[in-house]
Amino acid sequence: MKKDQLLTRRGALFAGAAALGAAGTAGAVLWGTGGGQAKPPAPAAGPQASRPLKPSAYRLQPLTGYGPPRTTPGRTLVRHEPFLKMSGRGRTMVLTFDDGPDPRYTPHILDTLAEYDVRAMFFVCGEMAVDNQDLLARMADEGHVVGNHTWSHPLLTRMTRGQIRSEMDRTSDVIEDAYGERPQWFRAPYGAWNRAAFQLGAEMGMEPLAWTVDTLDWTTPGTRSIVHRVEGGAAPGVVVLSHDAGGDRSQSVRALRDYLPQLLDSGYHMTVPRRRTA
Ligand SMILES: [Zn+2]
Repeated sequence: MKKDQLLTRRGALFAGAAALGAAGTAGAVLWGTGGGQAKPPAPAAGPQASRPLKPSAYRLQPLTGYGPPRTTPGRTLVRHEPFLKMSGRGRTMVLTFDDGPDPRYTPHILDTLAEYDVRAMFFVCGEMAVDNQDLLARMADEGHVVGNHTWSHPLLTRMTRGQIRSEMDRTSDVIEDAYGERPQWFRAPYGAWNRAAFQLGAEMGMEPLAWTVDTLDWTTPGTRSIVHRVEGGAAPGVVVLSHDAGGDRSQSVRALRDYLPQLLDSGYHMTVPRRRTA
């Protein structure tokens, strides 16, 4: 497919996503109907889309054909807010795990995801990833998406542009080495975004993804509480925030074993966004 066609499609679909945000429905990632390879033009974007998206739609259509960020600077739009959820029809949700990988917890989470044949997103910190590259390799092998969560988990809003760039770029380097490709998503620590973070992320070819449901698992509220937050917040398009590092995450590990089969039994599909080269 020609490059300009892809860019046109990308522009059209992002225009739809932007409209969602403007309508007050927080920014949403738009999910296409792809099944693994580049597809014919996607249906109309946004909540008004008349053609239902297949529940098996895992590809972020607009970006198929996207080149490596380093050789195609400036192609990712600079956003003013992160995506908070995904749009599209069907009972799809995204599970995300931040701050790892941690060899004490991440393998258990990966085991549970594998048991149910589910893909998730891991927003890793460079300083954790550099010592646990085997876990990033496993994530790649098992089809999970690894995102950039900075090197040392600082509050970006208190850093200079140069510091933010270093935090993000070093982390992408480690991810590329261990996971096999540079990340295409990033998430600001504490959900504290600023203009520099959006600009730098776009420069590095990454889209900003926040979350819809916060499990508050980092407060170690008890396994049952985490399960209730996920199940209470479950809805089409929801992005769930949990943590696989940063403290004792055994509750997060146990909670996943509980809510994941329940969500699947309720008819939800767990999915991940894709922005791969066609
Ligand atoms: Zn974090």
